Amino acid sequence: MTQLQAILNYQEVDKELYAIERELAGSEARKEYVKMKKFLEVAPEKLDALETKANSLKAEAASLSEKYEKTEETIKDFDSLDELISGGADIAFYKKKAQLVFDQLKKLKAELNELINVINETSAEYQKFKKQVIAAQKLYREAADKYNAVKSEKEGTRKELEAKLAELAKDISTEAMEKYKSKRKEKLFPIMCKVNDKRCSFCGMDLPIVDVNRLTSGGMIECDSCHRIIYKE
Ligand SMILES: [Zn+2]
Repeated sequence: MTQLQAILNYQEVDKELYAIERELAGSEARKEYVKMKKFLEVAPEKLDALETKANSLKAEAASLSEKYEKTEETIKDFDSLDELISGGADIAFYKKKAQLVFDQLKKLKAELNELINVINETSAEYQKFKKQVIAAQKLYREAADKYNAVKSEKEGTRKELEAKLAELAKDISTEAMEKYKSKRKEKLFPIMCKVNDKRCSFCGMDLPIVDVNRLTSGGMIECDSCHRIIYKE
C-alpha cells in the first residue's frame, strides 16, 4: 500500500471521529456550558470593579460630609453678631457672608444627595450581579453534567475509532502523520484533498503550475489558500 493510500484510509476513519467532535462541539449542552463558563470567568473581575467603585464613592461621600460639617461650623461665627452690630459693624457685610455660607451648604447638600443616589444605584447593581453569579453557578453545574452525559454517550464509539486509527497509523510515516495531526489540530477537515484539474478541490484555488508538476510525479503539495494537502491518485 502506498503512503497516499494509507493516509486516505486513515482519513476515512478519522472522518467519523471528526463528525462526533463536530456534533459535541455544536451541541446545546456544550454551548450552554461554555456560555456559563465564560460568564463565571469574568464575573470576579466585574464584582471587584463594582466593589472598588463603591469604596471610592463612599470615600467621596465621607469627604463631602466633612466639608459640609466644616461649613456648617462657620455659622457659629455669627453667634456674636448682635454684639458686632451694636458695636457699629456693617450689617450688609454679614448678610452677604451669611448668604455665601448658606449657598455653599445648599450646593454641598445637593452634591451629597446626588452621590447617595449613585451609591444606591451601585449597591443595587452589585446585589443584582451577585444574584446572577449565584444563578450562573447553578446553571454551570447543570450544563457541565448535561455536557458530560452527551460526551459519555459517544465515548464508546470514540474509543473504538481511536483504536482503529492507531492501527491505521502504523502504515503511515511519522513525518506524514505529524503533518496530518498538526492540520487536524487546526480543525481542518478534510485534510487530504484530491486535485481537480489544476485546482484545489476544496477551495477551488488555482494551484501554481510548478506545484501541479510535482503532483503528477506522485508527490503531495499544500494549498496556499486553504492549507489542505493536495494529492493526485
Ligand atoms: Zn484549497
